[in-house]
Amino acid sequence: MEEKIYLPKDHKNKKEIAISIIVVIIVTIAILVIGSMIKKAKYHKTYEYKLLQLGYTKEEVKTLLDYENLDLDYVLTIEKNDKLIPILNEKYYLSKNLKKYIDYQKANTDKSTTDVIAIINTHNDDDYYTNEIASNQKKNLKILVNKHYHVDDKYEPDDLVKVSNWYSYGDDQFVRKEAYDEFVSMFNAAKEEDIKIIINSSYRSYADQKATYDDFIERYGLETTEALAAHPGNSEHQTGLAIDVTTPGYNTKTFDTSEAFTWLSNNAYKYGYIMRYPKDKEYLTGFDYESWHYRYVGKDVAKYIHENNITYDEYYAYFEENENEK
Ligand SMILES: [Zn+2]
Repeated sequence: MEEKIYLPKDHKNKKEIAISIIVVIIVTIAILVIGSMIKKAKYHKTYEYKLLQLGYTKEEVKTLLDYENLDLDYVLTIEKNDKLIPILNEKYYLSKNLKKYIDYQKANTDKSTTDVIAIINTHNDDDYYTNEIASNQKKNLKILVNKHYHVDDKYEPDDLVKVSNWYSYGDDQFVRKEAYDEFVSMFNAAKEEDIKIIINSSYRSYADQKATYDDFIERYGLETTEALAAHPGNSEHQTGLAIDVTTPGYNTKTFDTSEAFTWLSNNAYKYGYIMRYPKDKEYLTGFDYESWHYRYVGKDVAKYIHENNITYDEYYAYFEENENEK
């Protein structure tokens, strides 16, 4: 008699269950693998991954990712740059200038990052009188005029006042009203300490500056003239906010050895005046050291410049020109 062999029912079930489990495991693994692949692919697209790939350390990447207004797409286009974070940490860093800072630093490795920032912000990567910008007259008492910013031949302040002979040499001295009032206060405060500060030169029109410049060209030739006189339109004296001062017994060469100079160094800012062309800052101001040339900028600005030891060019670049974008 033929014997039928039946697999026990529960045995068959067990087999199906085993297959099901294997399928579930395979599917789960597949999901996990695909998931991790997707995650990895996504991570590879992040700035974090790309910056790490460029060679920045985890800490540096964290620092870079934390910066607001940092153009990371640009950062990815350049090689790992050791100066990048120091540049970002500079006090007067302006995000719009990042590419310029990086390029300039690369071409001038001897320069400190502080200098690179200052030079670029003040347009001193350009030669003087090239790519000139029209001075913003709306800035009023804060107007900037130098070898990168100019006013035209029609620019003449409408509140010039004649300087009394009591405070000046020569009859034709004019300065703007507010600058004059503050000068008088400064003059009187210095006088209390037996110090006399006399205005030697003040407002000069475009035509005056042109006459001086042309005369110098004729007498000394181009090279010497460029070192001595600003082009017409580029002299701060045209703003009516600049004064050249002196004190009895001294001239421009010796003025900085006078008590008047020491007094001004400690006190001029209280009256809104700054020494406009400090020593060793020619690469930012465009002018040689002039211990006698003072500029009225208002008390708040003068105090800031005095306390932070920067030039007006740097101040203007950071606080005035870029009011809305830092
Ligand atoms: Zn001057």
